Amino acid sequence: MSVIYVTKPFLPPKAEYDAWLDRIWEREWLTNNGGLLLELEQRLREYLSVSNGCAVSNGHLGLELLLEALEIEGEVITTPFSFSSTTHAIVRKGIDPVFCDVDPMTLTIDAGKIEALITGRTTAILAVHVYGIPCAVDRIENIAKKHGLKVIYDAAHAFGVRKNGVGIANFGDASMFSFHATKLFHTIEGGMVCAKDRETLRRCALLRNFGIEDETTVSAAGGNAKMSEFQAAMGLVNLRYIHEIIDERRRITERYIQNLDGVEGLRIVCKSIPDDVEYNYGYFPVIVEDAFGISRDALYEGLKRYDIYSRRYFYPLIPDFDCYRDAGFRGLVPVARKASEGVLALPIYNGLPLDTVDLICEKILEVRKLGE
Ligand SMILES: *Cc1c(COP(=O)(O)O)cnc(C)c1O
Repeated sequence: MSVIYVTKPFLPPKAEYDAWLDRIWEREWLTNNGGLLLELEQRLREYLSVSNGCAVSNGHLGLELLLEALEIEGEVITTPFSFSSTTHAIVRKGIDPVFCDVDPMTLTIDAGKIEALITGRTTAILAVHVYGIPCAVDRIENIAKKHGLKVIYDAAHAFGVRKNGVGIANFGDASMFSFHATKLFHTIEGGMVCAKDRETLRRCALLRNFGIEDETTVSAAGGNAKMSEFQAAMGLVNLRYIHEIIDERRRITERYIQNLDGVEGLRIVCKSIPDDVEYNYGYFPVIVEDAFGISRDALYEGLKRYDIYSRRYFYPLIPDFDCYRDAGFRGLVPVARKASEGVLALPIYNGLPLDTVDLICEKILEVRKLGE
């Protein structure tokens, strides 16, 4: 049996990418608001149903641009249960993260615990639609309104997700999508920032290109977060396949659920997604609970012996990183810590055959039997 990785990047037919490259050679324009970039941005705004969105070199810099453009400072309430980038962006902008615990079912920020963390220094909430599961956006909006806070969503996992038919990036003041190679939709490296307010987006666009307004006007100390034409070309090809990509992942997800639903002590996270959500099937995490009989790590190691690579995504928890453990950031997060110790993301990618999904599930049960 060959090695099964937790994920694999989607590669479109090479000839289609080549056809876009021909256009780059014809125009001899490689970056800085090229034709392909403008076309990709337009198509993405349509697909995501947003009015304001600009492409960036990667999702992480997108988050940093949004924090800057919205002039966030002081303290930001955020989730500890995410990829490192979410907290790093806050810290790298000189802001203090305050960790709010998560909801045990959706694993997104627990809206009921946000208000108790607000102080005079709080200026924003940075929440994550983790695994593509929408946060409690309405409750978060109410809290933000009441206390005059900005809301930014890390939507790195939530490409194409809709709630009540509304594109996910329409919630909050701004959102960031990541188009990294391993994400559902990718531009090799890349991302997009969306903002409710046109002026915020204009500032992002400015900051993404050194703050240069025109030939003789530089109005802000911006950096470089531009997306090149080669990345845009990959995005234009991949966007054509997005419906197929999501469809195939839906079938993989359904197969996992068929096999694993009802296994004692194994909680299927995506089963907690409310009916009003149009999901993207980006990830397939399970929570290994005590009743499973063996620990999450025992399952993870056991699968590795069969060359099946799952991922403890997210573990360790961000506040437990070496760089944050002794930083003194506020927030008690027992629910997130427990989730982090139990979570295992199982392999899911385009091209993963359904009978391999069956095999992975078989091995999960076998590892449990051997380990008891
Ligand atoms: C991937 C990811 C990021 C960072 O995106 P890049 O495009 O890799 O910079 C941020 N947050 C989350 C939750 C992610 O999964």
